[in-house]
Amino acid sequence: SFTLTAKDYAEYIKLAYDLIHSKGDYITELDSVTGDGDHWTNINMGFENLVKNIDRLEVMGLSDEFKEIGKIMMSVIGGSSGVLYGSAYIAAAKVLKEKDVLHDADLCAVLKAMLDAIVARGQAKEGYKTMIDSLAPAVKKYEECLANGTPTAELCEQVKKAAEDGAENTKNMEAIRGRASYQANRGLGHLDPGAVTMSYQIATLMDYAAG
Ligand code: ADP
Ligand code: MG
Ligand code: MG
Repeated sequence: SFTLTAKDYAEYIKLAYDLIHSKGDYITELDSVTGDGDHWTNINMGFENLVKNIDRLEVMGLSDEFKEIGKIMMSVIGGSSGVLYGSAYIAAAKVLKEKDVLHDADLCAVLKAMLDAIVARGQAKEGYKTMIDSLAPAVKKYEECLANGTPTAELCEQVKKAAEDGAENTKNMEAIRGRASYQANRGLGHLDPGAVTMSYQIATLMDYAAG
């Protein structure tokens, strides 16, 4: 089992920022094909702002930290993803009330709360070619691993892989929500940028949790 504190979560945010920051050309290209080309700028700006506020965030309790991350994301990330990530973090803050640390099952509950909030806010579901197509399979795999008593290192690896495979699968999907749904081919044959950046975050988080 792993244990993540608010300070650990802040460390994860810095690592996620490093990865997202390094993928500018790639993610911009993906959103230029299926959307309006701004997804990397949006999400990178959000994480950059979180890192600027990291000294303040890492000393908060977990629930306040998540609420504040949500507020920053909501106000700094433009576009659809800002509202969706903002809602996700604010919903997760609610399941973290009174918690000082996150163990395996707590982190699963956090990701599930995020998924439910994104689904509720965006009115999308699995298969619509969105960020949900990375997050939902990751949550499902996480729940399976907890139920099966999968050892922590293996659990982290499997959740990460589910998120990455989920993002990869968006290539075969026709978009029902988001800008790609306005395209003639509904983005078929191309990755969804929001699913890819979601998979970066989950991969970084699970690697960090695995230690
Ligand atoms: P915008 O499309 O407004 O320019 P971004 O480019 O920042 O916003 O984000 C686009 C990503 O947001 C998409 O790739 C998709 O993953 C995600 N997305 C868009 N609409 C929805 C929705 N209704 N539900 C879930 N995710 C969505
Ligand atoms: Mg966009
Ligand atoms: Mg936009």
